Amino acid sequence: MDFSWSDEQLELYRSIASFAQKELNDHTVEHDHAGIFPRDLWRKAAEFGILGLPFPEEYGGSGQDILTTLFALEALGYGCRDNGLIFGLNAQMWAVQTPIVRYGSDAQKQAYLPKLISGAWIGAHGMTEPDAGSDAFALSTAAVKRGDRYVLNGTKIFTSNAPTADLFLIFATMNRKRGFMGITAFLIDKGTPGLSVSKPIEKMGLRTSPMGEVVLENCEVGPDQRLGREGNGGTIFKHSMMWERCSILASYVGTMQRQIEVCTRYAKERRQFDSPIGAFQAVSHRIVDMKVRLESARLLLYRAGWLRARGEEAGMEVAMAKLYLSEAAVQNALDAIQVHGGYGYTTEFGIERELRDAVGGRLYSGTSEIQKELIAGALGL
Ligand SMILES: Cc1cc2nc3c(=O)[nH]c(=O)nc-3n(C[C@H](O)[C@H](O)[C@H](O)COP(=O)(O)OP(=O)(O)OC[C@H]3O[C@@H](n4cnc5c(N)ncnc54)[C@H](O)[C@@H]3O)c2cc1C
Repeated sequence: MDFSWSDEQLELYRSIASFAQKELNDHTVEHDHAGIFPRDLWRKAAEFGILGLPFPEEYGGSGQDILTTLFALEALGYGCRDNGLIFGLNAQMWAVQTPIVRYGSDAQKQAYLPKLISGAWIGAHGMTEPDAGSDAFALSTAAVKRGDRYVLNGTKIFTSNAPTADLFLIFATMNRKRGFMGITAFLIDKGTPGLSVSKPIEKMGLRTSPMGEVVLENCEVGPDQRLGREGNGGTIFKHSMMWERCSILASYVGTMQRQIEVCTRYAKERRQFDSPIGAFQAVSHRIVDMKVRLESARLLLYRAGWLRARGEEAGMEVAMAKLYLSEAAVQNALDAIQVHGGYGYTTEFGIERELRDAVGGRLYSGTSEIQKELIAGALGL
């Protein structure tokens, strides 16, 4: 494993961090407070090329390899304080665009990828249901064949981007008895009769990323809206989750880096008992623990990316990176609040928001407990 970045990769990092600092931090506190989705910032991020990072140039992407993409997303997290915006962009990239690139027909790729990558359209991925969360393949949304068409009925919950989405990737079963093998994936446009979306679900963090419930009531779609083959939905879901799990938290490496810089500055400036608080070992060691956690998370992330770049599945390494990164992000945000004392608890400093946002990372793309199950399975337990 080579730990050095090329000049081009470093330049990409610098340009994304500086773009994000200048262009993506408008009104973050207000947007979070009111739960406002910043559609204009989404468009700016897309125009800068964020949504196209690892995707083919023919659809508007820049065809970066996975390690460069992870490094670029780290830069985004360093520069942009709106974790909800970053989360929504990632959800679309890994759970909507990736499956279309891998499993879509030429017509589907041409119809959807340029619109999604350019930011003109927003995509949502609906797998989770009220009674099928961690046990995702137990879903009950049904697709029944009528001639060569399909009629879908069911409810999806916690669907990120749904309230603003133009395209929905929906997983449904055509045969519950067949479990994983009975699932089929569909690409359904907004406005299709029978598809409706609830108003945004209020939540603790990532409040600028709207999440909704998607209801399918006799929603009829044609064969050209099926993604991949009948019964291939489980494989499509697993494929996109591997990429999502590996990449969705890369931005938190940048977020944690920024938090440590903020904490270090604060610990040098803030004085109590006639001394900078950073001179108290309890405070400096807390920041040291944050730094060690960040560097451990960074190594796990890039190792997982490196293995995947070599064509390896790396299921255990991806699960370890996701587990450790998400837990480190929560602990580092808690520590950042503690270093700032009462000021860290206030909304104005923005650190309490980072904690609320980080908690989501322990849940989406498979909870921490599920990552441990995957690691245990890989160990043969
Ligand atoms: C911010 C956010 C965004 C999301 N975005 C999307 C999206 O865009 N599309 C989508 O389809 N879904 C999305 N989800 C849903 C997410 O994938 C699920 O919340 C997650 O898989 C857990 O399912 P659940 O909430 O039903 O919890 P449950 O599965 O009911 O789990 C409850 C608790 O039991 C534990 N548990 C369950 N099974 C086991 C087990 N076998 N071993 C040990 N512990 C277990 C869990 O770890 C958890 O602690 C999102 C969720 C969040 C929080």
